[in-house]
Amino acid sequence: MTSGFLKSEEVPGRRHRFRVMGGGVGRGHAVYFFGMFFREILMKERQEILVGLLGRVFRYLEEAGRPGTPVVDYQAPESLRQKMDLTLGAEGLPEGQLLQLCEDYLQYSVRTGHRFFMNQLFSGFNFPAFLGEIVTAATNGSMYTYETAPVATLVEMEVVRRMGELAGFQNGNGLIVTGGSNANLVALLCARHHLFPDIKAKGIRMRSPMVIFVSDQAHYSFFKAANVVGIGSDNVVLVKSDRAGCMIPEELDGEIRQAVQNGKTPFFVGATAGTTVMGSFDPLPAIAGICETHGLWFHVDASLGGGFLLSPRHRDLLKGCNLADSFTWDAHKLMGIPLMCSVLLTQSRDILYHACSSEGGDYLFHDYDNADFDLGTKSLQCARRVDALKLWLAWKCIGDRGYAERIDRLVELAGYATHKIASHPQLELMRPVQSIIACFRYRPEGATDLNGLNLALRERLATEGKVLINYTHLNGEMVLRLVVINPDLTERDLDTLFETIVGTGEELALAAARADEKS
Ligand SMILES: *Cc1c(COP(=O)(O)O)cnc(C)c1O
Repeated sequence: MTSGFLKSEEVPGRRHRFRVMGGGVGRGHAVYFFGMFFREILMKERQEILVGLLGRVFRYLEEAGRPGTPVVDYQAPESLRQKMDLTLGAEGLPEGQLLQLCEDYLQYSVRTGHRFFMNQLFSGFNFPAFLGEIVTAATNGSMYTYETAPVATLVEMEVVRRMGELAGFQNGNGLIVTGGSNANLVALLCARHHLFPDIKAKGIRMRSPMVIFVSDQAHYSFFKAANVVGIGSDNVVLVKSDRAGCMIPEELDGEIRQAVQNGKTPFFVGATAGTTVMGSFDPLPAIAGICETHGLWFHVDASLGGGFLLSPRHRDLLKGCNLADSFTWDAHKLMGIPLMCSVLLTQSRDILYHACSSEGGDYLFHDYDNADFDLGTKSLQCARRVDALKLWLAWKCIGDRGYAERIDRLVELAGYATHKIASHPQLELMRPVQSIIACFRYRPEGATDLNGLNLALRERLATEGKVLINYTHLNGEMVLRLVVINPDLTERDLDTLFETIVGTGEELALAAARADEKS
């Protein structure tokens, strides 16, 4: 049976499936009522699928909290390709089969809500934000105009206003962007536009290369931003940090003077509040003073550390951030919002508009009463996903006070972990801990190849799905990087973690010793 309104296809061994084609009203009452009838069946089927999926998702989320659930059912790529049919084909599947595909996806994905998902600067599950994601997907708004996304626009404006207030920006502005990396990029663009406005239209025609300054602990996104904004990654000067991972202000001042002497044009300093590897905080007041002296744009990358502004107890880590010209804050890190949720705040009300707006787009932006509410005019994106709703709902539900408690608790737990590491005979704390990240390694007595051992240990934990914990190198020494960011973590979990690490390490050391004996 085929009509303009509805098409049904016979699938052997299965129920009919229907596609509502739209239009067709007026082709006769019979077809119309038939259409309504099948539409109702389709809606009923979809409702069943949706309820079934939500049930499965709920179980998946609930399992992550249970002891013994692995962080991941790890499969190498070839094996994963065999377990799931990933190929796309010409024929469509009935919608009912989507459930199994989603089930497979859940089965083999990393459970980032798991308390032993410690690999990255996010972990855990946020229920109100999750509801926000569902509503965001259902409404599928786009943030360019108030007309297209009225509620989302006001919600984003409120979130940005509140974050700006916490950062101490008096009459600032801001925008949700696609990540901390992009926030840093847009900040660099704002700085370039502020100091060299002609470049926007004319391109770069400077004889003296522009240079920017970040610490040697800064995030790698500054190299990318320097590439995109036309500065060149070679013109990113890495300022020395101290043993705790904080930028040394005297070094910064020296590097700036040196650059000027070498005929370069300094214009931007990116301080970090909460470094990616160690969770360290650069001394913002001193850096602000140096930027003031040399007339440079002062940016604070608080992708990780922004959340500390919510804690009266730890807010001082960011002391001086109110002096910044721009500020990056990832709500998907300490605030536990699902990816992505990143905000760029600016001290100036209109720099985002001047730096990011362009000609064209009159098909989209019309001069009318609400033009100030068309956030798209200050964005590098055209269509822009609604990332504000999930944050707004979570913040509404948790409140400033709830967030303060949560963040204080994380710092407390990181302190507990630090103490455990420092007092354990087979663990070694590699750097002082300033906030929520502890760099350490497994060091059994008499072991020689500590890098190799820790690498093997970390791989074993990951492929067995016990713990996902990342690593990096500090001065050539491999360190495990414990990120205490999951709000459900407890002291008991941390005890289990260290027992698991040491236990697995002992197994590996024993196996290595046996292999040595044999050879
Ligand atoms: C995580 C992080 C970034 C990058 O943020 P994304 O949202 O992952 O792009 C930038 N800077 C710092 C200090 C970070 O910790």
